[in-house]
Amino acid sequence: MRCLREKLQLANAYFGTDYSEPEISYQQRGTSAGSAYLQHWQIRLNPILLIENQQPFVDEVVPHELAHLLVYRRFGRAAAPHGKEWRWMMEQVLGVSASRTHKFETASVQSKTYPYLCACQEHQLTVRRHNRVMRKEAEYRCRHCGELLRFHVKGTG
Ligand SMILES: [Zn+2]
Ligand SMILES: [Zn+2]
Repeated sequence: MRCLREKLQLANAYFGTDYSEPEISYQQRGTSAGSAYLQHWQIRLNPILLIENQQPFVDEVVPHELAHLLVYRRFGRAAAPHGKEWRWMMEQVLGVSASRTHKFETASVQSKTYPYLCACQEHQLTVRRHNRVMRKEAEYRCRHCGELLRFHVKGTG
């Protein structure tokens, strides 16, 4: 993927590093455009939104998620996912504007699941599970980091 390669080269030139290309997977589900799997050096893209939005999707989502990976590699886990480290990485290193949210039409992938966050990734919960959480009948934990999943109100990327 050319966009990924170009942005990675910018970062490697900036830091004098030789980071390998992150793995790209097309298994992002739900309404998220993409997500960064920090420990796995992997970017997940939403295949439906990618097909619907083409190049603008790549140009926006790939640098956004790559910046998350780079921040993690350089600074460890940032206090805020879209905090100053991430903004700096986007604007100074990758040379793109740091817009926190993806602005794609998500009607086609709406509903069915609800996004939840732990410390390491985004999870998609079914309507059924989501309703159980909302009614305080159940709690779910991430199998990777062990944290309780928190409902992620959309619009924050
Ligand atoms: Zn986790
Ligand atoms: Zn983000």
